[in-house]
Amino acid sequence: MHIYPDARSVVHDISPDEPVILNRPHAAARAAHFFAEKFPGKSLYAVKANPSPELLRVLWANGISHFDVASIAEVRLVRQTLPDATLCFMHPVKTAKAIAEAYNVHGVRTFSLDTVEELEKIVSACSDADGTPPGDLRLLVRLRVSSEYSELSLASKFGVDLADAAALLQQTRQHCDWLGVCFHVGSQAMTPFAYVQALERVRAAVAEASVVIDVVDVGGGFPSEYPGMEPPPLEDYFSVIFRHFEALPIAYNAELWCEPGRALCAEYSSLVVRVEKRRGEELFINDGAYGALFDAAHIEWRFPVNALEDDLTQPVAEFSFYGPTCDDADFMKGPFMLPEDIQAGDYIEIGMLGAYGAAMKTGFNGFGNADQYVVEDEPMSSLYRGDRADPRASDNVVSLR
Ligand SMILES: *Cc1c(COP(=O)(O)O)cnc(C)c1O
Repeated sequence: MHIYPDARSVVHDISPDEPVILNRPHAAARAAHFFAEKFPGKSLYAVKANPSPELLRVLWANGISHFDVASIAEVRLVRQTLPDATLCFMHPVKTAKAIAEAYNVHGVRTFSLDTVEELEKIVSACSDADGTPPGDLRLLVRLRVSSEYSELSLASKFGVDLADAAALLQQTRQHCDWLGVCFHVGSQAMTPFAYVQALERVRAAVAEASVVIDVVDVGGGFPSEYPGMEPPPLEDYFSVIFRHFEALPIAYNAELWCEPGRALCAEYSSLVVRVEKRRGEELFINDGAYGALFDAAHIEWRFPVNALEDDLTQPVAEFSFYGPTCDDADFMKGPFMLPEDIQAGDYIEIGMLGAYGAAMKTGFNGFGNADQYVVEDEPMSSLYRGDRADPRASDNVVSLR
């Protein structure tokens, strides 16, 4: 694959007619190192955030050995890409066939669940032909927790209610020698307090169940940096999580896990688009709601932008974007800050699209193509560059003590 210094050199060299994805392996490597070294436990990469095999290899090479997969296709993909990786099947609603293939063919032993029905399904799908149940299952009960501190809720779909958690933990314990509790506080959690609340629920459930807990998995939700969303340093999250984990009534050798998706790959990719038409403060660009900009359209996520022409001299103004498809919903409100004199034919780089960006692209209306290149410059912002070497103790954190 051709390597370029940056987005400008790509535009200069090939004037791309279609959107181009620019990948920064060095940024993903830095994020992986950070989690591998600083998170006080094991970090599983949540593959759905970006399943690119190149990215999986970068994370593996930089200390991420465990992968949170949610579908049989993700199981196969990671197993094929990384034969020695540990896979954890963390979708609480799976098909019996997917469970059996994961267990028998791909060596998966770790599964999550949030109902008795799913527990029974897992045990029977992993039993041998004589109906002998498996002796090596590692099961995690997913607890429903609040998403109130996160930009994107994951609270309503999955997780057993606290009222039913103790009974499910006790039943699950009877089928495995290794039992965990997991949860997800929602994506882009803007304060470590999100995890404190969730860990309080874990405490209540475990105390009521009186079962031995071997792992507490705090899930994903670790933030990245976007315009208007500047989270506290990740070190603050790690220390708050660790302190509350240590205070739980669990085995002294219990493990702590997390499942970052966004935080490990947001900085990995950016996107180069071209303005095809300007109408007032609206720019018609060649990627959008059905492409890598799903979140910009559907939840009005603001991604950082840079105009790539040298001759744009005007001060910045606020723009919104239309994507290329014929659907009115292919609209991204922004505001995106770009030079006032930007016009049709100009190129724009949109940053921080490594998570839930490239992975969301569809071929709707014939607009799915995007070449990919490696670039060597820095992502538009980074939580890992060390420019916050003196992490300010955020107000959010201080108020907890
Ligand atoms: C989506 C998901 C993650 C990753 O979430 P991020 O907010 O991207 O960190 C982790 N675990 C589970 C179970 C998920 O569904």
